Amino acid sequence: MPRKSSIIWLQGLTCNGNSHSFLNYAQMPSFAASFDMLYHPLWCGAEDFMGLLHSDAPFDFLILEGALSHDERLLQRFNLPFYEILDNLASRSKYIICAGSCASFGGIFRLRDPQKITGALFSGKEKGGYWLEKKNVINISGCPLHPRWLAETLFALHHGDNVALDEFLRPKEIFSYFAHHGCLRNEYFEWKVDSKQLGQREGCLYYEHGCQGPMSHANCNKILWNDVSSKTRAGSPCLGCTEFDFPRPALYETQKNMSLPQTPFGISKRAYYTLAGVAKSFKIERLEKKLIDEDN
Ligand code: SF4
Repeated sequence: MPRKSSIIWLQGLTCNGNSHSFLNYAQMPSFAASFDMLYHPLWCGAEDFMGLLHSDAPFDFLILEGALSHDERLLQRFNLPFYEILDNLASRSKYIICAGSCASFGGIFRLRDPQKITGALFSGKEKGGYWLEKKNVINISGCPLHPRWLAETLFALHHGDNVALDEFLRPKEIFSYFAHHGCLRNEYFEWKVDSKQLGQREGCLYYEHGCQGPMSHANCNKILWNDVSSKTRAGSPCLGCTEFDFPRPALYETQKNMSLPQTPFGISKRAYYTLAGVAKSFKIERLEKKLIDEDN
């Protein structure tokens, strides 16, 4: 029988969002055939945890969900000092995976006190989280992360594959894409046709509704959620939840400078505004109409 990889899941400051997202996937028979979840806070009790903590057995993956705080009172688990637990488990695990934007960058908790609440290795974009010196750490940002991002990373490492990482230690296979890639509204983006309101099929959400798709590293529109949909397909803007500066203020508003929106990632302002001006000067009737006219 092939060897299973073992996982211990630990939580810092969290809303449980990544757990809920991933538990959709963890029910799959293919996952159970390859992995043993030795401990997860939502389905195991204190006794299971104490047994693991007092063993010195190595295991494969420590998954950390949630931000870390310099104030250990916020992190108490079973009345034990949190960082002792963390160091104990980290020293015995082969890989450490930071699941979600809070563990990766500090996320929404960091807004409260950016000096004291951080991700494991990063505080926003700066290196300088709690674990600066640790090896074999992989960040999988997202609020929450897509269950397949974590599953694919676990499977790759389980099979001994190399996982190439970007500057924020995120798997390139996932985070080299933008949420904009595969969005069904790309033609509206090219011709600068706005969506009139949230929830519509037509129009792009970039110009008035704050869509971060062209700046957010994620493949949400390539693999979809539950294999069915994504925010932009459902008519809601991408909120940029995989980025180090998430959450920004006014998530549903396009930040503008002299009535011009920010430029997509990697494109010069001058080139973008020139192209945008030309594109906007065309009026393409087809793109102004309803995709499906319910009255006809
Ligand atoms: S809605 Fe967002 S992701 Fe989709 S085309 Fe417009 S900017 Fe890109």
